[in-house]
Amino acid sequence: MATASKKRATKVGKKRETAAKKPKVVAKKPKAQAKKPKAQAKKPEATAKSREIDLSEFPTGALTTHTRLVCLACIFDLFTEQLGLAPRTAYSEIKRHAPSVEELTSGAPARPYFDSEEKHPRCPHCDAARRWHARFTLHRVEGSKLTDAPRRALFKSLPKADEQFQISDEKSTHRAVFFQWLDALGRRLDFAEEGSLLEATRAYLERAEPRTDWAEVFAGLRSVRRSQRLAEGWERDGARLFLAPALYGDALLVQYLVSRAHAHGGVTLEGRLTLHELVRRLRQTGYLEARGVAERDQFDVLETLIDKLTGGDETVKLHYVLDRRDFLDRVKTVYAHYS
Ligand SMILES: [Zn+2]
Repeated sequence: MATASKKRATKVGKKRETAAKKPKVVAKKPKAQAKKPKAQAKKPEATAKSREIDLSEFPTGALTTHTRLVCLACIFDLFTEQLGLAPRTAYSEIKRHAPSVEELTSGAPARPYFDSEEKHPRCPHCDAARRWHARFTLHRVEGSKLTDAPRRALFKSLPKADEQFQISDEKSTHRAVFFQWLDALGRRLDFAEEGSLLEATRAYLERAEPRTDWAEVFAGLRSVRRSQRLAEGWERDGARLFLAPALYGDALLVQYLVSRAHAHGGVTLEGRLTLHELVRRLRQTGYLEARGVAERDQFDVLETLIDKLTGGDETVKLHYVLDRRDFLDRVKTVYAHYS
């Protein structure tokens, strides 16, 4: 998988968290190394592995990749035992199998699906060895002006034979998508770790300003501060990143939201804050006024802020590409072995 999609991958499970964290180290390397222009750094990698599909045209914050293993022994068993199909019929049915979005993205995978990052995993449902496992990869693109053209180009470029790729879409709201993103971010971060707040801030900025190369901005960065002079945007000064007050307030809110489930209050760049303390701080710094929040009650303030930050109940279209190539290969191999 390309570095870019690994970085954005939403992953479940302890081992996967470790894997997902690797790109962070890359971001912290000295400037000279991290400074390669984006396009140059990614493209050779994408063409080197012919199976990779090129996702480098998508802004980091708008693309999510899920991978999940499926056990062919389990699935074969389900088709023959439970549906009563003859083995030959079962195989031709299995070839057409396409998991739902829910089956590939739910927190707890159900049989015949499972997650594992081990080299030689065994199916947790039936103990089958690796040769029985296939991997599904699901890419999700958030529909927007920025992603529509590259998405159409990508869909057009995909091979059509044997339904190696399946395309689907669904409607959601900006608020729902934001909380899915937040949930995935929360699973990736360890708030006991120094640097997790910088990581949370960077992840938010990648979403808020997708055109900026934040990997470069955050390379070698040591702290994020509220700017005293900027009215909007950001600037980097040495190892410090200064955010305009509104952007800084957004980042603080995201830090609070992403970490509040892990502990009492939320962990932010300004220390551990309860909702009361967060709202008071945001009011004192003029953030609430700047965001046009007139509510007094802290819970109402939070709701309004979340609506403004996320885009609320406005509809967003989610586009999915399901990569079935590994699955089709495996089904073929397994069938060849048994026929
Ligand atoms: Zn199994």
